[in-house]
Amino acid sequence: DKADIAVTGLATMGRNLARNLARNGHTVAVHNRTRKRTDSLIAEFSGEGNFIACESLADVVRSLKRPRKVIVMVQAGAGTDEVIDQLAELLEPGDILVDGGNAHFIDSRRRESALRERGLHFVGTGISGGEEGALNGPSIMPGGTAEAYKTLGPILESISAQVDGTPCCTHVGADGAGHFVKMVHNGIEYADMQLIGESYDLLRTVLGKTPDELAEIFRTWNTGDLESFLIEITAEVLAAKDPRGGDGAFIDKVLDQTEQKGTGRWTVQIALDLGTPVSGIAEAVFARSVSGHAEQRNAARGVLDGPSEKVAVDNPDQFVEDVRRALYASKVVAYAQGFDMIRAGAEAYDWNIDLGAMATIWRGGCIIRARFLDRIREAYEKTPDLPSLLVDPYFARTVNEGQEAWRRVVATAAAAGVPVPGFGAALSYFDALRRDRLPAALLQGLRDLFGAHTYHRTDAEGSFHLEWSGDRSEREV
Ligand code: NDP
Repeated sequence: DKADIAVTGLATMGRNLARNLARNGHTVAVHNRTRKRTDSLIAEFSGEGNFIACESLADVVRSLKRPRKVIVMVQAGAGTDEVIDQLAELLEPGDILVDGGNAHFIDSRRRESALRERGLHFVGTGISGGEEGALNGPSIMPGGTAEAYKTLGPILESISAQVDGTPCCTHVGADGAGHFVKMVHNGIEYADMQLIGESYDLLRTVLGKTPDELAEIFRTWNTGDLESFLIEITAEVLAAKDPRGGDGAFIDKVLDQTEQKGTGRWTVQIALDLGTPVSGIAEAVFARSVSGHAEQRNAARGVLDGPSEKVAVDNPDQFVEDVRRALYASKVVAYAQGFDMIRAGAEAYDWNIDLGAMATIWRGGCIIRARFLDRIREAYEKTPDLPSLLVDPYFARTVNEGQEAWRRVVATAAAAGVPVPGFGAALSYFDALRRDRLPAALLQGLRDLFGAHTYHRTDAEGSFHLEWSGDRSEREV
């Protein structure tokens, strides 16, 4: 019998994806550069479904039904390029080559266009949910042609997470759209984690809560609007004890320097090019960078002063509730900015991306899965061309109701000397959007003066320039 689909690259992700496919009734051809991984998959899991172990990529191609479908799950970058090149030589027009790794969408666009010339469908696919998601149901974001999705889509939908009977998988858009959306997803994940980190820091520093007490607070938050995978696992991390023994909290033994693999950085780099202010994501990426500059932090610790007085909070329970509201409002801003970026990317690269559908496929399987994604889906379903998520009635009410708490939290953080770049940036964005007048008018004046860059008027069309005299006798020219 021939295989329905193949997976090549059987490290953590590929192995789990292959098992997921087999468990869902698909016959899966499996292959890995080093044979050992293929053998161990068969030895341990052949009982889970139908696998066909393949020695080479040529074997893979021979074992597949047409049109052939091959998922590449190898190391992103050069490894992926190498495997794709080898497969391109072996596959035939109409076959479908899926890259499920964390590729940059620009690379996916390049690969798609090169393979299209050879009659092959290349489907750059974002897969979120880590190791556990790959096995039990990830959120899947496939790009490529609608034609490829017709054959491939049903298989991917059968192995994705399901929420209320709807698969967390849909055709995102042409060429690199899937990897683009996965990139923004990861950027939002950075912002969300940063905001959670700031909430933790504030409650611990200002109120002196213990990790156990904090775990309880996050557990309670996870029963309301904030219900999400990230809040759930925050409680779990905070409740953990040091595995090396003693009564101490795990968190207090962990070095406070964060790693990054790069998708957050990509998001910010591309956002700069698109002119989309994803300040929440940018602050999160920079906050990780600051944490990693140990030398500067060591030098500054003894030199730079904190506030001279300890901040007194009269009503600790009220402050906890304020932080919860500030977290929710800031999170809404981070998602609003992320969805703006998807819209801007779709315009720039000519993709037809349904924003509501993106919220729908993030409801399950992925790291940012959360109750409130349903609200985002509703908002875009009701008004597909919503100028900003923040002006949707539900979200406008949420941020408006939360704004007093948000301001108190940012002010208290400043007074207490707790850095809150995420909360601060989100609040500034909210204020910038709603203000009648921004200081951009002054900036126009400055640019006209020092560089004759011209300015625009509120009461007339066109560009104007003043001849700046320095003696108050400026003339319009
Ligand atoms: P790794 O990124 O660790 O890559 C290892 C796999 O790549 C092995 O199977 C290895 O084969 C293969 N490989 C590397 N170079 C080559 C090459 N030149 N030719 C052939 N095979 C090669 O595996 P992961 O399972 O962690 O991740 C796979 C992909 O999924 C990556 O793109 C990664 O970024 C992405 N990923 C996504 C996650 C998510 O949550 N969505 C989480 C983790 C990863 P060999 O055994 O022979 O060395």
